[in-house]
Amino acid sequence: MAEFLTGQPLVYKLRDIIENARDLLVIVSPYIKLDGEIRHWFEKHINNRHLHILLIFGKENPISDWDLGFFKRFPNIKIIYAENLHAKYYANEDEGLMTSLNLHEYSIGNNIEFGYCAENSYNANYDESDCTTDAFNYTLKIAAYPYNELVYKSRHCKEWLYNNHHNTSYHYKSHKGYCIHCGCKIEFNIERPMCYDCYQGWGRRRGNAENFCHYSGEESYRQTSMQKPILTKNWHKAKEYEEECLDELPY
Ligand SMILES: [Zn+2]
Repeated sequence: MAEFLTGQPLVYKLRDIIENARDLLVIVSPYIKLDGEIRHWFEKHINNRHLHILLIFGKENPISDWDLGFFKRFPNIKIIYAENLHAKYYANEDEGLMTSLNLHEYSIGNNIEFGYCAENSYNANYDESDCTTDAFNYTLKIAAYPYNELVYKSRHCKEWLYNNHHNTSYHYKSHKGYCIHCGCKIEFNIERPMCYDCYQGWGRRRGNAENFCHYSGEESYRQTSMQKPILTKNWHKAKEYEEECLDELPY
């Protein structure tokens, strides 16, 4: 259910979205100014390659070199400048917050702000009127507009998120597989059942048995491999799921 928030609960929700992000963190805020507390919300992710952060800011002098330097320390981040940005939106893979609040120490401490938070629609049992998935997809479009400036992209940035951005809901919904080596969440694709990082080291491990089922994410105790990424007991369900994903494609 969508939740109306203001005052301290609104700030706590923003903190929770940042701190609880596992795969994805979207920050859309025209003005950005971090104090120690806001930095602290991000700091647990500083060595996390599996968390992709998309940061979009705008306006004149919207971010200091100091704060930009802070964000550049994250290993899987894309930072975009959109000159006429006025929207504010924050999301992780579970929920999205549409609000008046900038990611700015002054706004957080002094202004009257409010917003709505809702679960993202690919979670089970969602109510369509509550979901913020449209805002998420629109954010990906902003990120892909050619006239917005790519300020910084880290080495491990997950480009799959931005490919075919006309069709992002499909890509995002299909984000339901697991890397057979490390178990992190990746796009479901039986042909490519490893995350980018693990695939880099795969040459040396070629032929080895792996640790996780690409479909369920459960431990496979060496019963999976690149050739056989799905546990036998999950194979039928995985094939059905693959069909469903293909049905969602608009072409
Ligand atoms: Zn992996």
